[in-house]
Amino acid sequence: SCKDQHNHFALYSKALNKHSVVRLSLMSELKGALAEGQLELHYQPKLSIDKGEIETLECLIRWYHPVHGFVPPDDFIPLAEQTWAIRHVTQWALRTACQQLKNWRNDGYHFGVAVNISAIDLVDMSLPSSIAELLREFDIPASALTMEVTESAVMSDAKNALKALNTLRTMGISLSIDDFGTGYSSMAQLKKMPVDELKIDKAFVLDLAQNQEDRVMVKTLVSLAQNLGLTTVAEGVEDLATLEFLREVGCTKAQGYYLTKALPAEALTLWYENFSRN
Ligand code: C2E
Ligand code: CA
Ligand code: CA
Ligand code: CA
Repeated sequence: SCKDQHNHFALYSKALNKHSVVRLSLMSELKGALAEGQLELHYQPKLSIDKGEIETLECLIRWYHPVHGFVPPDDFIPLAEQTWAIRHVTQWALRTACQQLKNWRNDGYHFGVAVNISAIDLVDMSLPSSIAELLREFDIPASALTMEVTESAVMSDAKNALKALNTLRTMGISLSIDDFGTGYSSMAQLKKMPVDELKIDKAFVLDLAQNQEDRVMVKTLVSLAQNLGLTTVAEGVEDLATLEFLREVGCTKAQGYYLTKALPAEALTLWYENFSRN
């Protein structure tokens, strides 16, 4: 069952955290694993709450290791960030997302995709030009692409991050601040960031229906974003009560298991067909 699987993953995760040998070997395998097709992108929709429409899908990486089984991104992405292997992950994710976007557009689905990028990607000066090349190769407008960057990534090297973000924004790519509310950015710093969207971390959203403090927090974050002229996405929306609260406080978009978890491209297309029929 799903639950057993979850427990299995949890045990596995603990083991992985303890054994640095396994961790190191995983990192040495990552580049090859990408080339061999052990990794997949899954896609999770962002619902525009007012319009009731899906315009953008977030790309979330999945690693099915031949020996270790499913390795959750929270287990290997932070390692990849430490060893710079993240650059290969990001390049692969961008290419895979653009290829899929192209496939969808050929089939008449005009989604946009949001790709997660790391702090290290922002100091890689070749990132904007490699993205421009991918957009050309797959004949995709820059407006179909969003980059999700964590708040901590932006704040850790604010000057360089700002430069990279400005370049991407000038190209017409949308920028989203991920895990918002978990870092320490001030209103003043935020105002300087060339971003379009704030993503409210699921830590504030998951128990919102039961937790008054979370509701106050989310309401405050939404109005902060509104004052800065930014749209908001709440992640971790698992029930209707939460969605209704988000609608009341004027949150722009919702993402979470209430709609669907992240799905492989084909399954997502089927899910979308069913969604747009209802
Ligand atoms: P994130 O970007 O904050 O993504 C949100 C996480 O919440 C995802 O976990 C998603 O599957 C999960 N989630 C979505 N809806 C719900 C819900 O209703 N309830 C609950 N409990 N969880 C929900 P996931 O896929 O395990 O990814 C974890 C993190 O790994 C991501 O957090 C992101 O930081 C990182 N990540 C994933 N894919 C990539 C990637 O391609 N590149 C990079 N750099 N990081 C990635
Ligand atoms: Ca994200
Ligand atoms: Ca998050
Ligand atoms: Ca995260």
